[in-house]
Amino acid sequence: MREASRSSYASRPRFWRSVRQEEWSSWIWQQQNRVRDVETLCQIIPLSSDEIETINWSADRFRMAITPHYLTLIDGSSLECPIRLQAIPQRGEQVRFPYELDDPLAEEKHMPVPGLTHRYPDRVLVYMTHNCPVYCRHCTRKRKVSDPQSAPRAQELTAAIAYIAGHPEVRDVLLSGGDPLSLSTRRLAGALAAIRRIDHVDVIRVGTRNPVTLPQRIDAELCEVLASVAPVYVNTQFNHLDEATSESEQALKMLREAGCILSNQMVLLAGINDTPHKVETLNRWLLRNGVRPYYIFQADMAAGITHYRTPLATGLEIMRHLRGRLSGLGVPQFVIDLPDGGGKIPISPDYLEPGTGKEQPLLFRNWQGELFEFWDVDGTPTGQSFMSSAESENRSLPSRRNPKDR
Ligand SMILES: *Cc1c(COP(=O)(O)O)cnc(C)c1O
Ligand code: SF4
Repeated sequence: MREASRSSYASRPRFWRSVRQEEWSSWIWQQQNRVRDVETLCQIIPLSSDEIETINWSADRFRMAITPHYLTLIDGSSLECPIRLQAIPQRGEQVRFPYELDDPLAEEKHMPVPGLTHRYPDRVLVYMTHNCPVYCRHCTRKRKVSDPQSAPRAQELTAAIAYIAGHPEVRDVLLSGGDPLSLSTRRLAGALAAIRRIDHVDVIRVGTRNPVTLPQRIDAELCEVLASVAPVYVNTQFNHLDEATSESEQALKMLREAGCILSNQMVLLAGINDTPHKVETLNRWLLRNGVRPYYIFQADMAAGITHYRTPLATGLEIMRHLRGRLSGLGVPQFVIDLPDGGGKIPISPDYLEPGTGKEQPLLFRNWQGELFEFWDVDGTPTGQSFMSSAESENRSLPSRRNPKDR
């Protein structure tokens, strides 16, 4: 039997011992009891002096906030715990490199109206709020996320929806933030219904980390709203198998039942999920829960997150490992979101042996490292075959080279 995912309620720290299950299951309670200061946090888990110092340093820059649910997943005895490294400010935040950017994706530059980025012809990104249940320390939108001053106002959202209605080329609306589920269900319902009424919009997407950091937010009322505008594509961000809980599994199940189509955008983070095995186990769990791994993001060149960045070779090695070993459904694209608004590009291991294919077959190396011949065509009707049909009937298929011959 497979081990069942743990429940955060059942494993909650002593600090919350007297909390009742109904409270713990309420997202309002979780939201109101987020841990936001050193004094509270150190009563729950032991902190290093670096962490204490950086939490105070970050207070007026990029605040700390951690839901009781997510905090429960931290292994207090390990400074390398993957949840700790995502939620508790680490010394690296204070270090700056000359190439780091405040707005690495130039999102502010491509805003035809405030709170909406229109970069690709057919899709727009809308910033619904600048709040999130947990402020991920690797956030690429640190420049505004967590800052209450920069929160989009209601009339901005109305203007963004009017922009979409006035641009028939927009077929895909991606609600982002911050976390759109930090809005009240009533406000979210209004926005979703207004967008669904726009005839040329085919796809509504919601980018949210709530299934990970505040799964209690996925409640019956929210699901009713999502179902009323179905299908909604929900992109979430699980980064490590330690984030798998029975609460998250329940949230994902409810989203599926509300007709949502689920996918995951993992951020590749040094010391957190930068090994093939960690990504494979995470993706297997996601597939079991009806979530398709969609992207693995190379961490952006954002200010103060360089300590999370991995060499590109690390991501390529992970991709090479996944192909062949894991259902193709569980193999995402590894992408870089280029600085200055260049957009996303996929990067992939090279399976073609260099220098092959000129008047001879291409040579590909498969997932097991074996070489295979593949005859390409040049695409013109006369040049399509190098052999007469009689010849090709007699000829057996290019033989698979035995890897032992190498
Ligand atoms: C990432 C992004 C999208 C969505 O890109 P997909 O590749 O379709 O997932 C849209 N607009 C902006 C500005 C983005 O950064
Ligand atoms: S949920 Fe998203 S927007 Fe919010 S802090 Fe995390 S990465 Fe940033």
